[in-house]
Amino acid sequence: MDTKRWNIKNNETFHNQSIHEAAELITQGETVAFPTETVYGLGADATNESAVAKIFKAKGRPQDNPLIAHVATVEQLKRLVDNLPAYAEKLMKEFSPGPLTYVLPSNGMCADNVTAGLSTIGVRIPDHPIAQELLKLADVPVAAPSANLSGKPSPTTANHVWDDLNGRIAGLLDGGPTGVGLESTVIDCTQDIPIILRPGGITKEQLEDVVGPVMIDPGLANTKERPMSPGMKYKHYSPEVPLWLIEGAPEKLQSVIDREKQNGNRIGVLASRACAEQIQADEIISLGENIDEIAANLYEALRKFKQGDVDLIICEAFPEDGIGQAVMNRLRKASDI
Ligand code: AMP
Ligand code: MG
Repeated sequence: MDTKRWNIKNNETFHNQSIHEAAELITQGETVAFPTETVYGLGADATNESAVAKIFKAKGRPQDNPLIAHVATVEQLKRLVDNLPAYAEKLMKEFSPGPLTYVLPSNGMCADNVTAGLSTIGVRIPDHPIAQELLKLADVPVAAPSANLSGKPSPTTANHVWDDLNGRIAGLLDGGPTGVGLESTVIDCTQDIPIILRPGGITKEQLEDVVGPVMIDPGLANTKERPMSPGMKYKHYSPEVPLWLIEGAPEKLQSVIDREKQNGNRIGVLASRACAEQIQADEIISLGENIDEIAANLYEALRKFKQGDVDLIICEAFPEDGIGQAVMNRLRKASDI
């Protein structure tokens, strides 16, 4: 299949012919990748089972991993769900549009393969002008997981999507690099207290400021318990070469690097700027000065290390405050130790 690629400059969405064409492909049952404020998504009409099946096929995604339905407004969100608890409405007022996905009882409006047969559905309102315009024009809920091959780091630029999915999808809207750089926070809103199923762009602290105590799925920290969200049990975000996550000061990282170099390995390093400046290795990528920059640059950096260039990536472990929790969740999933 030929993948049509449109370039949208400066988020110019008003009467944009390219976004019209993309929306038309979606309503015709095709797949289109588009930018959101988190990562690029691969969209299809969530009410059309065969369109949704094309997403699973293009990505090679396991059939039991449900998709998030994307809509433009809270009103459209309400058309997909039953029983919206008061705390979810509060969260929506504060964080939607934005990087927060609500898991709510499904009313069956979306196709069965969107929810992978669950009675709940994940819904999000993205905060990106191109995503918003596409959703308004398509005027259907759009199922959209990250637009990468399953298992690879999520795409934060259109080129990442192109590398993974060119020839496998109908279209790609190029809106430049995404902002947050990590996926949305997924929050279960079916219980008395909200439960974080996947840490992401909105932090636990931000959520608690609005609705009081929020739980974290114990399955995320504890390897014995199964995570509540089907997608969280898979290995994810994998670079081409093994990655080791190392806790401790730069000297600790350096001692692991030196030992592995003696074993004949070429070493790549991922670290904050402060740490990167103190390290010697074959290739070093500085992720940035603060945790927001580190989050935004992480997936691009994971994709940069290629087989043949380095044998092993040594990555600094970061403090788990704010979005650091999501960064460390992704790194643990990418890590081989
Ligand atoms: P992705 O869109 O690729 O970033 O993945 C979406 C994430 O949301 C995966 O971890 C899914 O398992 C999770 N998810 C989507 N719908 C549900 C749901 N109804 N219940 C629990 N987790 C969900
Ligand atoms: Mg994904």
